[in-house]
Amino acid sequence: MDSSLYALVEDLRGVDAAQVLSHGVSSITVGAAYHRARDVTPHGRTRVTFRQDGIHFPPGDLFDGLRLLPPVQRDADQEPLKALRDQTRELGVPLHGWAVFLHSTTLGLAFPDVTQENCFGDRAAPADLCPSNPDVRAYAVALGRAVARQGMDSVVSESLHFGMFGHGYHHERSFVDLGSAAEFALGLCFCPHCQARLPGAETARTAASRLAASVLDGGPPATELPTVLEDYARSRTPIVTSLAADVADAVAAEGSSLTFLDLTGAVKGYADGRPTGGPAADSAWQIGVDPSAVSDVVPSYAILCYAHDEDRVAEDVAAYRTALGPDTTLRAVLRPGVPDTTSSDHLAAKVTAARKAGANTVDYYSYGLVPLPVLSRIPH
Ligand SMILES: [Zn+2]
Ligand SMILES: [Zn+2]
Repeated sequence: MDSSLYALVEDLRGVDAAQVLSHGVSSITVGAAYHRARDVTPHGRTRVTFRQDGIHFPPGDLFDGLRLLPPVQRDADQEPLKALRDQTRELGVPLHGWAVFLHSTTLGLAFPDVTQENCFGDRAAPADLCPSNPDVRAYAVALGRAVARQGMDSVVSESLHFGMFGHGYHHERSFVDLGSAAEFALGLCFCPHCQARLPGAETARTAASRLAASVLDGGPPATELPTVLEDYARSRTPIVTSLAADVADAVAAEGSSLTFLDLTGAVKGYADGRPTGGPAADSAWQIGVDPSAVSDVVPSYAILCYAHDEDRVAEDVAAYRTALGPDTTLRAVLRPGVPDTTSSDHLAAKVTAARKAGANTVDYYSYGLVPLPVLSRIPH
């Protein structure tokens, strides 16, 4: 049974595939197209690592004629993915190519019209490319195909869905207690392409701007989401499902297969590993994802079990298993260190819980971001 360790290219300088695999896993999921970040990388060549938006391989001709071209990382001509591909082939283990699709500050700043437009008409989420936009969709399909063409056993798609208000840029400030409902309303997209695809857009836009304005004008935080906004948010799921289907087809045409990574578990538990409320699967609509519908168009589905509590991990996995049905591969991603996990035993308990609840594989996030003693918690 495949168990994979996520790893970013910058963290693999001076490290070969065998060293990564020595941490108890049977495959590597490498960041082939990643986004801007500044990370503490405890055992890396650089102890604090700055990452850029873009692909770690030469783009080839797949983006010819498209409006959006992926930024190309400085190391692309050294072909770090090819080296890793050669090593993993030699070892007879899978290499998965992980790509961030619709989250790119570089593209959003260069082409503001392809980013999400809020209810007030502001283009203020430069990192969030809108999945309704035809240029964005063409870019996503080409990106999936391009990553697959690097000889990847599968392509793992991150951010192949709508973005939310809390992470539209990397230095965000608000001195207003918006409340969960107003914050959610401010994250909804009403760009011309969303308006064209979604009949309820006009009504929802009025409701969203009214709700957000009520708080911005000095009213109390808004915590009750009006039905009209929930309905609007849910009506976006076919946009994401059809995009996932298009990307899955393109990836399959290259002889690879798509794993759809659903970020909802991170939305709920990223900061403290203490998600509350119902299981993550019940909140996926907030990023425009219908897990059940997506499972009909992709062979494999990954979820982020960013939770301290093993019962919570089990609950989240079980809910996704129910939504996906029995035939879709379900990959549960765990964080072996802070803030989710405190010891080897704790991690082992969560692995068992995830498997029992219906996960086919357990993967780990991520090689370069955790200290070596934390990596050693991964059960062999
Ligand atoms: Zn980001
Ligand atoms: Zn839109």
